[in-house]
Amino acid sequence: MTTTAAPTLFDDEPPAPAARTPRTPDRPEAVNGLRPAPARLIAAHDPDIHDPEGRPLLYLVVTCCPYCGHQHVHPAGHTGEPRLCPRNSRCVGPQGGAYYFPAVHQ
Ligand SMILES: [Zn+2]
Repeated sequence: MTTTAAPTLFDDEPPAPAARTPRTPDRPEAVNGLRPAPARLIAAHDPDIHDPEGRPLLYLVVTCCPYCGHQHVHPAGHTGEPRLCPRNSRCVGPQGGAYYFPAVHQ
């Protein structure tokens, strides 16, 4: 009884195409535990008395927190010198969690 089966050296499958995760801009997946939070920039009406140039303060308002659904306000520097993305913070609501601001539109 002879075995003529040659060793299968050439049986490796071609690499499967990388699975592409569908882009879901409405509800993107969490990135490194961070969830995207829609935010917008709001300028205070009154000048900041603590700013030597008297510039109004800017606030980054998370309009719909991905964890608690409420608004969260974060300092964003002064007008003319905004501190925008990349930024991240934590929800202070009862559920909590870290989120980031993918983009900020005034
Ligand atoms: Zn929250």
